[in-house]
Amino acid sequence: YLPTIYGITPTYSRLAQKADLTRLSQTLMHVKNFHWVVIEDSTEKTKLVANLLKESNLKYTHLNIKTHRTKHSTPYWRTNKGKKLLASGVEQRNLALDWLKGYLQKAEDTRGVVYFMDDDNTYSLKVFDEMRKVKNVGVWPVGIVGGMRVEMPLVTDGKVSGYNAWWKPFRPFPIDMAGFAINATLFLEHPEAKFSRKVQSGFQESEILKYFATKDDLEPLADNCTKVYVWHTRTQKPSILNPKKLKRPPVPDDH
Ligand code: UDP
Ligand code: MN
Repeated sequence: YLPTIYGITPTYSRLAQKADLTRLSQTLMHVKNFHWVVIEDSTEKTKLVANLLKESNLKYTHLNIKTHRTKHSTPYWRTNKGKKLLASGVEQRNLALDWLKGYLQKAEDTRGVVYFMDDDNTYSLKVFDEMRKVKNVGVWPVGIVGGMRVEMPLVTDGKVSGYNAWWKPFRPFPIDMAGFAINATLFLEHPEAKFSRKVQSGFQESEILKYFATKDDLEPLADNCTKVYVWHTRTQKPSILNPKKLKRPPVPDDH
């Protein structure tokens, strides 16, 4: 028996979007019992994402909701370099959780696990094998994140005893979004569980995890958190020529 994995992926339009989603979808084609919930940060569903999902042959649900950005209603945070930082994917992940609760209420088999998957990370197939072992909340290391080669829970006698995090180690759960999965049925027991726009950057993971676990409840996976099966890779923002300034006709769009 294999519990279903519900992979929740917010995505937004940008030059490398199709490349990132192609790489991710082709990883997911190798994962059994996987249901991909893709939420576009847009007022309308795009053809690019719709076609990519259709052609993937994956089991999927395609949703959309635009991030609400106004000067007053959206708190944002400045990095130490003064860069404006806006929590990404909050409304999108919450919409997916609403969809999930409705879906599970009607489902015969509610067993499954929820994994929040950013669209530009790198996922080993092994991370999916690990998360199917989750009873309530499972955790594992994430590579190349928080200024570290690997950010990971520290395990003593099979329990999480602390974390090696260097970036904001005071976070209640100093774990990246890619470093945990939650039993899907728990979202029916805690329908109030959702992400919040009101927390500072880096606290989204803690915001959702607090509904389901304390540090003592976390289930260390990936060989007691000694193996790295997912990396917080980021696609460099490409710079291309302005097609309007090109003298020769530009190459066709890739979609
Ligand atoms: N995202 C989004 N809208 C945005 C920015 C990001 O939906 O305006 C999505 C993005 O596609 C990704 C997730 O939110 O799946 C996290 O964003 P990103 O990968 O940029 O975060 P970071 O790598 O900086 O942690
Ligand atoms: Mn990312």
